[in-house]
Amino acid sequence: MPSRLITPTRSHSKKTTIGFVNLGCSKNQVDSEVMLGTLVADGFALTDNPKKAEVVIINTCGFIEEAKQESIDTIIAHGKLKETGSCRVLIAAGCLAQRYQGDLLKQLPELDGVVGTGEFGKIAEICRDLLAPKKRQQRLWISEPPYLYEADAPRLRLGKAHSAYVKIAEGCNRNCAFCAIPLMRGKQRSRPVESIVAEATRLAAEGVKEINLISQDTVNYGVDLGLRHGLVTLLRELVTVKDLRWIRPFYLYPQQVSDALLDLYAGEEKITKYIDMPLQHINDRMLKKMHRLGDRAAITSLVDRIRTRIPGVTFRTAFIVGFPGETEQAFDELRGYVAEAQFDRVAVFLYSDEEDTPAVGFDDKVERPVMNERRNELLAVQEDIAAARGKDRIGSVMEVLVEGVSEETDLLLEGRHEGLAPEIDGVVYINDGSATAGELVKVEITDAALYDLVGHIVT
Ligand code: SF4
Repeated sequence: MPSRLITPTRSHSKKTTIGFVNLGCSKNQVDSEVMLGTLVADGFALTDNPKKAEVVIINTCGFIEEAKQESIDTIIAHGKLKETGSCRVLIAAGCLAQRYQGDLLKQLPELDGVVGTGEFGKIAEICRDLLAPKKRQQRLWISEPPYLYEADAPRLRLGKAHSAYVKIAEGCNRNCAFCAIPLMRGKQRSRPVESIVAEATRLAAEGVKEINLISQDTVNYGVDLGLRHGLVTLLRELVTVKDLRWIRPFYLYPQQVSDALLDLYAGEEKITKYIDMPLQHINDRMLKKMHRLGDRAAITSLVDRIRTRIPGVTFRTAFIVGFPGETEQAFDELRGYVAEAQFDRVAVFLYSDEEDTPAVGFDDKVERPVMNERRNELLAVQEDIAAARGKDRIGSVMEVLVEGVSEETDLLLEGRHEGLAPEIDGVVYINDGSATAGELVKVEITDAALYDLVGHIVT
């Protein structure tokens, strides 16, 4: 997510103007959308002109070192608006705020307020409080558990009109040794099925064709509500929502994936044949050290089961390289596995020491240049696979959700087939035929670049 002020949908000169910067993942985006909706409903106006913003809110990310640095740099850069613009109040919200709380206020004196993940619902009240004429004092709003919105929460969506993220749960009950998310977002809390279905129904009525279900651990959805097969129950309800065409669950942990769930994927047209399942590693010793459940044998058999039960499935995964103790041999095993498994997409993250996680105390840290090399090697293996996968698509006819005029050139349209997720995967460029954003059309694929496809509309 680029660090820029968000374009307003409403503005009124007499209202207090808010500039908002969203950083981080799709989960943060939903939080930002709810904060923006709350602010507009409360009478604030939004501006995309940094100099005009009287209040600047940065929704920060605290995922890994680079994300934290980007958040801090963004706060510092926008702090200068107190001298060069109209900014009177600077607020850091979100993950970094929750994680460093008062320390963030101390380290960044330009900040007026720090708003943790439990306090998003109060954002309008907080802005008014900080704007009130009184002696300047830095303030902290931190509470637990993290805020989880309901179907009727005001929301100002930032993405395309026809595609929306729906957060179905917050927090995580697992203990992966490298991960700080449970420290920032707490234990898992799921939204009730009815609330999610009500939101999906409202979104579909507004013209949304695709909903992307997000949480930290989607396979575990509903466990805290006492549901045994929560995700299956939820998906069965969501497929009944009229006018919704694609339902795409993200972030499946490679455990507790039932046949009932896979059969639902296979049998329900509306559920995208798209599995997003971060595997993190394949070497048994590394998986154990990472505190991941399951070993290589369990993972390979699950991947086979998914591919057998969902014919034509697109499989996206992610790995971490450079976890403490990752030897050359363990990495070779991972590289060999990536070559052998032939996933459609592979993301590669560099291990980063995160305070208060178990892995910080582990010996045998891997040097940064070695991590970079390993990432490049994995990506090179995957590039060859992706190129071959793209070529295999040439000549096929696929249903494509049109996104609108291409971001590359206004001579082309662009869209996505169900195996391409928004923002993280490639696109289908359409060089012949006309359609409007949000329309589903048949496209014959005529060419393929590494991650993108090219084709024309067929009737
Ligand atoms: S399952 Fe995901 S969010 Fe939960 S601890 Fe592991 S990596 Fe973090």
